[in-house]
Amino acid sequence: MIWKGKKRHKPSSFLDLLPLGARVPGPDSDPPQGRPSMPFECPEWPPRWTEINAAVARALESGQWGQYDSPTYHLLCQRLVEFFQAPHARPCCSGTAATEIALRASQIGPDDEVLVAAFDYPGNFRSVELTGARPVLVDVAKGRLGIDPGQFAAAATARTRAVIASHLYGHAAAITRIRECCDENGWVLIEDACQALGMQIDGRPAGSWGDFATLSFGGSKLVSAGTGGALLSSSARFTARLGALLNRPSDAFPLSPLQAAVILPQLDRLMEMNLRRSDTASFLHHEVCSDLSRWKWSGAPEDDVTPAYYKLAWTAESTEHRGRIVAASKREGIPIGPGFRCMSRCSERRCGKPVSLDHAEHLGETIFVLDHRALLIEPSRRDELAESLRRVHDDS
Ligand SMILES: *Cc1c(COP(=O)(O)O)cnc(C)c1O
Repeated sequence: MIWKGKKRHKPSSFLDLLPLGARVPGPDSDPPQGRPSMPFECPEWPPRWTEINAAVARALESGQWGQYDSPTYHLLCQRLVEFFQAPHARPCCSGTAATEIALRASQIGPDDEVLVAAFDYPGNFRSVELTGARPVLVDVAKGRLGIDPGQFAAAATARTRAVIASHLYGHAAAITRIRECCDENGWVLIEDACQALGMQIDGRPAGSWGDFATLSFGGSKLVSAGTGGALLSSSARFTARLGALLNRPSDAFPLSPLQAAVILPQLDRLMEMNLRRSDTASFLHHEVCSDLSRWKWSGAPEDDVTPAYYKLAWTAESTEHRGRIVAASKREGIPIGPGFRCMSRCSERRCGKPVSLDHAEHLGETIFVLDHRALLIEPSRRDELAESLRRVHDDS
């Protein structure tokens, strides 16, 4: 491991890398003169729950942590099937890997085209490229953050084989319409639900709409195992292909029994945590957004959607304005960062660009997002969060 920078000390032992009980570091720059130097403190994530400690202790004591094929892993598969109302669930090493596995299990490769949103997790674009297929960029629907099914007819060709649709920043993609388009055309739908664990759309969970759906248990995600993910599938045929791809005979992209152990107690409390996050989001919407006049909120959740907020998104007036907002947030201790970039600058050699990508470009230039840790605060601290956000707004 290479250690860069002056501040980091070289660890003398493995235990130095694990400062147990350490506080989350605050912002590293000094507050402006005349300001109280009280940075906003977010709840910790991943959470420090006794249930998680107990689950890990059980996995250690039972010796399961040393098994390739553990009961905890199988319990996780079963819980995922129940929770996401998907016939098949397969944990794996990351959400990014899950997308690539889904494409490969769909036998997508050279000469094929896949419709992807120009504003999306960039790893989805890369996964399409890595299969040898060609990503074809589609704009996001106006007023939403997901791929626009209204552009599919203009973007598709005889080579189109699949659509990747992501639910981003608390918003659902237009998944019922996207599902219909895929059914009408015989395309595979890969639903990226990495940010949307527990979101309900039209009475069904995000993740139950695609032929495949991807979940992430990455460090900052709504259910965290440090790293990890899962693939859900609704078709027995695809699931059989998944087995052939992954079982070699060791699992080629495994999730460990210790990770399964930390995930299970978080799944049990996911809806409770999601409710706390969406309550804070609706407080901000109703009580605070009108004071943040230069920030445009990405909007209330769509009708028929019970949201799950991994991030809460606004757009700034310009890229420079966004840079000032991110800097002011850092001083204030508020976890705000820029959102995804737009893929529209990728060359025509790498991707198809048959339609205008105006909305995606605007989002890529101006979107900024508040991390869900801030949404997990106790209701009694909401005014404190609101005050900090007003200061960030006024200082930028
Ligand atoms: C985090 C994320 C992923 C990737 O998940 P990893 O587990 O980090 O690989 C994919 N898509 C979206 C929308 C994400 O937010």
